[in-house]
Parts: sequence; structure tokens; C-alpha cells
Amino acid sequence: MNGSIRVGSLFGIPVFINPSWFLVLGLITWNYATWLAFQFPELGLVAWGLGLVTALLLFASVVAHELGHSLVAMRQGIEVKSITLFIFGGLASLGEESKTPGDSFRVAIAGPLVSFTLFGWLHALSTFGQLTGPLAAVIGLLAYVNLALGVFNLIPGLPLDGGNILKSIVWKITGKPYQGTAFASRVGQVFGWLGIGLGFASLLGLTNVGSIWTLLVGWFLLQNAGQSAQAAGVQRLLSGLTAQDAVIPNSPLVSAASSLREFANNKIIGNPVNWRKYLVTDEAGKLAGEILVDDMKKVPTTDWWDVQVQTLVRSPSEIATVPSTTPLLDVINMLNEQLTELAVVKEDGEVVGLLEKTSIVKLLEQKVTA
Ligand SMILES: [Zn+2]
Repeated sequence: MNGSIRVGSLFGIPVFINPSWFLVLGLITWNYATWLAFQFPELGLVAWGLGLVTALLLFASVVAHELGHSLVAMRQGIEVKSITLFIFGGLASLGEESKTPGDSFRVAIAGPLVSFTLFGWLHALSTFGQLTGPLAAVIGLLAYVNLALGVFNLIPGLPLDGGNILKSIVWKITGKPYQGTAFASRVGQVFGWLGIGLGFASLLGLTNVGSIWTLLVGWFLLQNAGQSAQAAGVQRLLSGLTAQDAVIPNSPLVSAASSLREFANNKIIGNPVNWRKYLVTDEAGKLAGEILVDDMKKVPTTDWWDVQVQTLVRSPSEIATVPSTTPLLDVINMLNEQLTELAVVKEDGEVVGLLEKTSIVKLLEQKVTA
């Protein structure tokens, strides 16, 4: 999230705070402090300290909720990139999706389960703990806050937990994760509009249910539902496609046995694409390495008929390969800032061609316009 500040780490997960969080911290402190001062006038200024502590405990509850998601995800071998506190609560950023709908369900439900458990404990403490005065009030309030946190997050719209639970259920039924996402996005949009409508109605004094907060949350849901619907659309387009489908036509391939002159005449001169390097294949068509076009300058052009491509080959270990039958969605997860291209190979090792991030984008564009 933009402008978030790192404040430490828990279980090896970096914890960030978004500046919007401080606004909420101030508002909640003020809210609780005035409430406590009203309930217990004898507290005086202590009410403010207690208000701040209550607000911080509220956020600790949010962090506990996010840790619930994170620890279950980590047990599935998923990297948790960060936990961020922001204006609407917390967000655990996961490196990847769960592999199965069941795993996805468990990650989603873990957060609300933590909140409901905390509610149970705090409620028991405030009921049976024989607490009195401000302490009882604060514990009672925290119990209620955790209950609200669990219930609010079960609203079935992405990115809320209820949305993820709904997604995992539809995924389980249809067998397709993107259909789960698409469905949960649509439901999220409905709840988003509902929140906005209710918020507006309450501002106009038409209803007692809802507030400006309902309106803001509705807006937040609508924004996110739109984004996840888009992501689901991309996944739908890519599903069923494999690495083979995204191979660049006329990929930069050259046989190790070719002379440099043949290579230049047949592959480089007149090629509309100015490749900096070519994949080199052996007599069986398998990957033997790569050749940099610039390296050809090391050999005088007069010798080009006599020198073979293989004399300039660089080690194949630097080139990442992917089987041609790999689902394209998995290929996308493999690509990143450092790894932007892959050599696509058949089962027997024969090179099919090169695949780049841009070739996947092109494929998507063709699918959209088709
Ligand atoms: Zn959650």
C-alpha cells in the first residue's frame, strides 16, 4: 500500500502501518476517551490514556485476525509478504493463492475464527471475571469489537473474508478458481452498492441503519470487486492455455551447427525483430545454450563461413526452461522482474521457442479482441 511505514515484524512477517491508520487511531481514541469520561467522570485525564490503550488493543485485535490468515497460509507453504494496518482494518498480503479450494477456505476462515475466539475469551472475562469500573468497560468493549470484526469480515464480497469463503465454495463446485472469483466479485458489487445506498439514505435521514462509514465501506467493496472481477476475467482467458500457446512466432532459434554466415543471412538480416540473443539448439533440437549477436563481432566477417555458431555458445544453465504443457497461469507466476523470458521445451527436451511476458500480453489482447 502506498506510503506505508514498516513498524516491525511478527513471525517473520513485516508489519506496516498506512498513514490513514493514524487518522483512525486518533478518531477511535477520541471516541473511546469521551465515552469513558462520560461513564466514569472521576477518571479525568486518565480517560484519554485509557482511550488510547483501548484503541491500540483494538488494532492488536486486527493484527491477531490477520495473523490467523497468515499462519494458516504459511503452513500451506505460502509466503506472507506483509501485514498492513490501514483505514478499514488490516490486510495480509499473500505471495500466491492456495492450491485447492479447501486450503483457500481454511486461510479465509482463520481470521474470523481468531476474532470469534478472542470475543469468547474477552466476553467470558467480562462476565465471570468480577471486573468493575473502567477496566470492565474496556474489556467489554474489546469483546464487542472482536465480535464485530469477525462478523463484518464475513460479508461475502472480495476482498473480505466472506468473499474469499464464497470464492472457495464456488471454486469447489465448478472446479475453476476464476469462476469463484468472478462470482464473489459480483456479490461484492451488490453489497458495495447496498452499503453506498444505505449510507446515503442514513445521511439524508431516511433510515437509522448505516452511516457515512457504511457509505465508505460500500465504496471500498465496489472498488475491490471491480478489480477482482477484472483479474478473474484475465484468468478465464488464460485458463486452458499452455506455455506452448504463448511461444513467440519465429522465435530466435539457431542450430549450433550453422555457420555464422548462415546465421546472419537466414536469421538476422531482414528480421523485423532485432534480437540481441538467440537460443542455440543441438542436432536433436535440444537447448545447447545461447548466442549473443554482439559476440559475433569477435570473429572477422571473412571467417563467418568457417566458424560455427557453437564456438560462441554461452552456457545453457543461465536460461530457464519450462515444459510446453505447463498451464499459462503457472507460467505467469514463474515470471518476475528478474525472469522475463523462458525457453519452452517439449517433453523430450526439443526447444519449441521463446516465451516472454510481452508475448503473453499479446496473446491476451488477441483473445480479448477475438
Ligand atoms: Zn480477515
